[in-house]
Amino acid sequence: MILKIVKYPEPVLSQPGEPVTEFNAELRKLVADMFETTYASQGIGLAAPQVGVSKRLTVIDLSMGKEPKDRLVLINPEIISSEGKLYEEEGCLSFPEIREKVVRAAKVRIRAQNENGKWFEMDGEELLSRCMQHEIDHLNGVLFVDYLSKLKRDRVLKKFSKAAKRAAE
Ligand SMILES: [Zn+2]
Repeated sequence: MILKIVKYPEPVLSQPGEPVTEFNAELRKLVADMFETTYASQGIGLAAPQVGVSKRLTVIDLSMGKEPKDRLVLINPEIISSEGKLYEEEGCLSFPEIREKVVRAAKVRIRAQNENGKWFEMDGEELLSRCMQHEIDHLNGVLFVDYLSKLKRDRVLKKFSKAAKRAAE
């Protein structure tokens, strides 16, 4: 089932998500629906708050559905170490059509639980590192525009609300 993606400035996007404690059929259904929604939107990652569910869960697939081994489910994820710097353009399904350069760590190591509740650690570099940081930020109520200078953020948000208004007309 394709879920509705909430757009900025829905309050759920700015709230920290609750830890996931039940690893059941309902959770697996949400994960499947989140992948389906990501592919339908041609995204590479989606966090639960973006579908209105305030929980610490995100899905990532850099292959956009082409490589089953690239499907990543990160539940209650944390960044345990990071190094280096990347400065590249980023977008977000909750901010359609906005792309801005933000600074991220070039490499991260994360710790997370899978759909069955099993903890694992993994490394991400380059695009995967950036995507992991972007999605984990969502679980903390942090959005990529929060990394822009105030001046730039105000300008981007203004442009975004104008475009959203036009789309609603
Ligand atoms: Zn996003």
